[in-house]
Amino acid sequence: MSDMKITVNVDEYLAINKYEVDESNAHIELVDDPSDAEFDKLIRVCPAALYKRDDEGAKTFDYAGCLECGTCRIACGDTIIKKWEYPQPTMGVEYRFG
Ligand code: SF4
Repeated sequence: MSDMKITVNVDEYLAINKYEVDESNAHIELVDDPSDAEFDKLIRVCPAALYKRDDEGAKTFDYAGCLECGTCRIACGDTIIKKWEYPQPTMGVEYRFG
C-alpha cells in the first residue's frame, strides 16, 4: 500500500460554485443575541466558514455563500437557528465540478 498524501484546497473548489443570492429572503436566520457557546459550534461545523467572530468577539453570519448542507440546522436547529429552509427555486448554490 502506498503512502501517498493528497492535499485538497477547499476554497478553490468552493470558488467554482455559482451562487444566486436571494437578497430579499434570507433562508437562514439566527435568534437575536445568540449565545457564544452555540455560535462557536457553528463556527466549527460550517464547511463554508460563514459564521465568524472578530477579535472583539462580535458575531457575523452571511448566508450568501451557503452550501445548503444543513449542518448548522442539525447542530443548532433547536437553539440559535431561528429559521432554516432551502432557498426559493433558481436561488442558492449551483454546484460545479471542475
Ligand atoms: S447550511 Fe451548511 S453551508 Fe449553509 S450556513 Fe449551514 S452549515 Fe454553513
